[in-house]
Amino acid sequence: MVQVIEWVNPGEDEIIWRYPNEVIKWGAQLIVHEYEVAVFMRDGKIYDVLGPGRHTLTTQNLPLLYKLVGGSNSPFKATVIFVSMKQFQGRYGGETQTRELAPVKYYGVYWFKVADPVLFITEVVGGQSLYDAQDVTKFIRAYFNEGMMKHLSTYSIVDLFQNLDVVSTQVKVKLMEDFRRLGLELVDVKIEGVNTTDEWRQRLFWLMQTGNAQAVMQMDTVKQVAAELGKSPGAGMGTGMVLVPQLFQQQAQPIPPAQPYAGGGTPPAPQQPQQAAPAQTQQQEICPYCGKPIPPGARFCPYCGHEIKRCPNGHIVPEGAKFCPVCGAKIE
Ligand SMILES: [Zn+2]
Ligand SMILES: [Zn+2]
Repeated sequence: MVQVIEWVNPGEDEIIWRYPNEVIKWGAQLIVHEYEVAVFMRDGKIYDVLGPGRHTLTTQNLPLLYKLVGGSNSPFKATVIFVSMKQFQGRYGGETQTRELAPVKYYGVYWFKVADPVLFITEVVGGQSLYDAQDVTKFIRAYFNEGMMKHLSTYSIVDLFQNLDVVSTQVKVKLMEDFRRLGLELVDVKIEGVNTTDEWRQRLFWLMQTGNAQAVMQMDTVKQVAAELGKSPGAGMGTGMVLVPQLFQQQAQPIPPAQPYAGGGTPPAPQQPQQAAPAQTQQQEICPYCGKPIPPGARFCPYCGHEIKRCPNGHIVPEGAKFCPVCGAKIE
């Protein structure tokens, strides 16, 4: 009876499969399906690699193994590992810390495939002694997650919440390089969400509203600040809180473009830099929870759906504040 070596009905997310019999006979039929390769190993070393097709194993198509077994035509020992070259999808999720040590949770999806089966087997399968499809899948997920944690931790919390698209792209490039070292191609990465604690979300609120990380970091805990604000309209004024409205107004105001002078008579005098008009009327409002620009006066963020709390004068206020930190108005 002819020995048939074939990966029958690979599972949906099986990246590799090891042929269970390690004794191979010359003349055996090796069936390699589309999007597969068969790798012959012995003692952790890779010898011959065969691509899709129906192969009768001869001294011709396994030259390296043939040399090793000493030109004998008797059965020989080898491990046959099938590698799927299809694209796989993986989910990830984990926790890390930002540059300011803010705890963040993240989750999403990634897509990858084996690009270099020999490198992949050398680095992952043989290198880690993982001969089981599940173990390989687990290893890749852990490797991806570790890279994600490492790369995300180099960003600030404002970057993560305000510029997630940019961060995603940059992290993707770094992870692609990591994956290439394993013989894998990281096809795409999608960060579906990031989250942090309530405390840090409030801090983020101030970071985004004032754009002044230093001042916000100097405030003790944001809870204390919110508690101060809650006491009375004047309570905040004696503390560092009084800084906030000022910082808010100091933010760069758009300079109106120079008007070309077209009329007769005297050219208009050069414009004086405008004195600070109430900042909130000129500023594009941003959602303090996801950092996206929102329509003026919006009650809910159209991007993340979060409710935007406001004082009677329309200033955005943090959750739980009893008085507006900008104008002191009482919040119902
Ligand atoms: Zn939002
Ligand atoms: Zn107000």
